[in-house]
Amino acid sequence: MSKGSALAIHGGAKAVIADEGDIFRWPIVTTEDEEAVLAVLRRGAMSGLDITYEFEDDLKGYFGLRHALCHNTGTAAIQAAMWACGVGVGDEVISQSMTYWGTSLQVFSLGGTVVFSEIDPKTLTMDPSDIEHRITERTKAIIPVHYCAHPTDMDPIMEIAEKHGLKVIEDVSHAQGGLYKGRLLGTIGHIGAMSIMSGKSLACGEGGFLVTDDKDLYERAAAFGHYSRTQSIEHPELSPFAGMPLGGYKYRMHQLSSAVGRTQIKRYNERMQEIQRAMNHFWDLLEGVPGIVPHRTPADGDSTMGGWYAAKGIYAPEQLGGLPVARFCEAVTAEAGSFRIMPGANPLMHLHPVLNDADIYGHGKPTRIAHSDRDLRQREGSLPVTESMPERIYSIPWFKHYDEKIIAQYAAAFRKVVEHAEELL
Ligand SMILES: *Cc1c(COP(=O)(O)O)cnc(C)c1O
Repeated sequence: MSKGSALAIHGGAKAVIADEGDIFRWPIVTTEDEEAVLAVLRRGAMSGLDITYEFEDDLKGYFGLRHALCHNTGTAAIQAAMWACGVGVGDEVISQSMTYWGTSLQVFSLGGTVVFSEIDPKTLTMDPSDIEHRITERTKAIIPVHYCAHPTDMDPIMEIAEKHGLKVIEDVSHAQGGLYKGRLLGTIGHIGAMSIMSGKSLACGEGGFLVTDDKDLYERAAAFGHYSRTQSIEHPELSPFAGMPLGGYKYRMHQLSSAVGRTQIKRYNERMQEIQRAMNHFWDLLEGVPGIVPHRTPADGDSTMGGWYAAKGIYAPEQLGGLPVARFCEAVTAEAGSFRIMPGANPLMHLHPVLNDADIYGHGKPTRIAHSDRDLRQREGSLPVTESMPERIYSIPWFKHYDEKIIAQYAAAFRKVVEHAEELL
């Protein structure tokens, strides 16, 4: 292998020199979005519901499900989904530790708690073989995250849920439009809930929503945080409380977000497909390079990476003489243009003091175990696979357009650092 020029981190020429244009720009905002927002503003309809109802119709069409309920954040949508699934005082949900906290931390506000299962080191999603032994009589729901856009292996999870009478809430915040064995993510569990804040691949502004085919779950979620819909709820246990939200929350979506949502979802699949083409090309160029393992679905399968949110690569330091991921990333970033290659991913939830020490509501003990009859906290060493992953993941450039030249130069940056790895040890 020819080593080419010296590493940029050692004063050599950078691998990425092309003009990057708008290849990393996200979200894509056009005059269509601007006009939709201005129309809401000019009517003074920011707090209304008409555009949100229209956006919910769009979402029902997109997911092919009977019910959609927009929220002001993804965190709120997931909390309402938990309550809809019957999570209350002392109840447990099972989720993964490596994720944004909005997947499960809000369970505390319901009096519930979270137990973390291991992840699959290749997909970074819940390991279905590590769930069942964590189920107790307090477990109410499993919350898989299609983490960094990779679909979770849903079939065995649905089987476990059925066997134990549990609900499944898919957190689709990273993977809108992605497929698992040909099925749209968010339509496999009992509820699909997700964020659509501006950073996500379906990017609308602060906002989130849930989708479901189950009217009972929809009505329960609406009763929790949507007081203005409670009059139309038919559920006999909920209708006596019409007029006030049972959660004591006001969760409806800001209509500037619903307006952007309507224009964004119309263009989403087309934009997502260009992202998929660009990202798959990037990985194709790096095939077989030591130390670098793609985080993606098999090319010949019917599962996809959606909009490739927070795109990651898996790092195998043992193939590069043990070069630490942070040093590897520093060297690749020095070769790169504007995109910074960062080691690791979200901080692990199970090691954070909020999960282990914080007494948030004055129970006189940590909130995590406030209503538990056992200490279910998971200390360092309890999830060895999960805990090994921060050293074995890095971000890769999230290309929004298929531009062969720029993609090739970024791939060359990774390849160059691998070829010079021993100089970095
Ligand atoms: C962003 C995110 C959320 C929370 O969504 P917000 O809209 O920011 O409240 C939940 N889960 C995951 C995995 C996320 O990345």
